[in-house]
Amino acid sequence: MDFDVTFDVIIVGAGGCGLTAAAALQDANPKANVAVLDKAERACGNTVLSSGSIPAAGTRFQAEAGVHDTPLMFEEDLLSVAGEHEAMHLTEALTRTSAELIEWLVDRANVRLTLIQTYRHIGHRVHRLHAPPSRRGADLVNDLLVECERRDIPIVWNSKVEQLLTDQGRLTGLAYATPDGDVVRVGARHIVLACNGYAANPAILARYVPEIARATYGGGMGSEGEAVEWGEALGAGLANMKAYQAHASLADPHGSLVTWTVVEKGGIIVDASGHRFGDESIGYSAFAALELERPGPFWVIADTRIRDATAAGQEEYAELVEHGGVQSGPLEALCARTGIDPAGLAATLRAVRRFAQDGSTDEHGRKQWGMGPLEETLTATRIGPALFHTQGGLRVDIDGRVLTAAGRTMDGLWAGGGAASGISGNRGSLGYMSGNGLLSALGLGYRIGRALAKELETSAT
Ligand SMILES: Cc1cc2nc3c(=O)[nH]c(=O)nc-3n(C[C@H](O)[C@H](O)[C@H](O)COP(=O)(O)OP(=O)(O)OC[C@H]3O[C@@H](n4cnc5c(N)ncnc54)[C@H](O)[C@@H]3O)c2cc1C
Repeated sequence: MDFDVTFDVIIVGAGGCGLTAAAALQDANPKANVAVLDKAERACGNTVLSSGSIPAAGTRFQAEAGVHDTPLMFEEDLLSVAGEHEAMHLTEALTRTSAELIEWLVDRANVRLTLIQTYRHIGHRVHRLHAPPSRRGADLVNDLLVECERRDIPIVWNSKVEQLLTDQGRLTGLAYATPDGDVVRVGARHIVLACNGYAANPAILARYVPEIARATYGGGMGSEGEAVEWGEALGAGLANMKAYQAHASLADPHGSLVTWTVVEKGGIIVDASGHRFGDESIGYSAFAALELERPGPFWVIADTRIRDATAAGQEEYAELVEHGGVQSGPLEALCARTGIDPAGLAATLRAVRRFAQDGSTDEHGRKQWGMGPLEETLTATRIGPALFHTQGGLRVDIDGRVLTAAGRTMDGLWAGGGAASGISGNRGSLGYMSGNGLLSALGLGYRIGRALAKELETSAT
């Protein structure tokens, strides 16, 4: 078969998974001939949109902060939220590699990460989220892009991979289209699918997760499910296809994220009647399922203390405050502006303040009240539920080798991040814990890079 160009390894997708895999491969095997293709004209996938929080257990940053944590504690936390699922081997492998990943990113890939100590997010028993100081995924991706450039790894934008090429059943390369419509055929011994999941593909959503298919979508438009389609056509197995991350608090109409920190610090979620309808402490992904069951709109109610403490640590929320997305005032004035029923909200606040005062459990099961009873000057942010990303995908082994439905390794085909099965269970939005997306993306990317480096070394000798 004729190719326009040939590489040892082609990575499809320049997000968190693809860039980490490329840099980790080149770090472990500087002779590796690797290139990254991306259909977008610049970095704009989910890693860019994320808050860049990667969970890890047993890092030196945790030790410096006096946080005791182990991979086993982390694995237990993940499984207590996700339950049994179809990729338990990944939960174990990714928790075991998590500290090494963070330290490699900082020490060898020059990615700026710090341990978040102002919030933990639901499910994590200790502080273990590591993120860029800005808490923006865009900074994480920028650092990875600079690192790939420093290592002379070509990243080719505007290159939409359309087909995987095979010869007598053996994977030989791929074809991508340029913006002018030209087709370029690239030969490769190994192809890494790092092109994310199927959250922007309504047909695949309708097949696996119909309950979320019509919700607002808050993720990248590049997640069109090609990995699942190509993989299935070649006989790959799929796993955890019913799992996804939803978010209960996308600001309406601003479209930015109202961080769940507002809720964790004592905020509540009400509907137009001013009443709550569930335990907010089940987390932002699981709470979205409660919102999807009833008509909106919904509001996050907090107070100016919580607003200011949250805005001080999170730029995206601070911008929402600055742009008028978070209204404030005493109850009557706030209800007049938002349309929330004042009598209903007053009754809700009386009850919530009582629970927060004695630290007791409310009728929904919520036990944690953050900074204590809400004060008189309230804040209200109109929100709605959204789908952020899918967590099911190609069945892979612990190093990202794609497996058939029968569990056999598919020669030369690798997948990680949203393209592969995640670790968020298989029960809709219920199994997702903060950080599962990036742990799967960067963690599996790192493991793929290392494993590929070894395979290339072995095949060269
Ligand atoms: C708003 C938001 C906030 C989030 N916050 C967090 C968080 O704080 N922590 C966390 O763990 N997770 C978070 N997530 C989830 C997390 O961002 C994703 O799970 C993770 O970024 C997936 O990484 P990836 O590399 O697989 O995909 P991406 O970062 O999306 O990269 C995939 C790339 O592949 C390219 N591509 C797709 N198809 C093709 C093709 N055919 N040819 C060429 N290129 C292609 C795309 O253009 C894209 O650049 C969040 C998600 C969203 C939407």
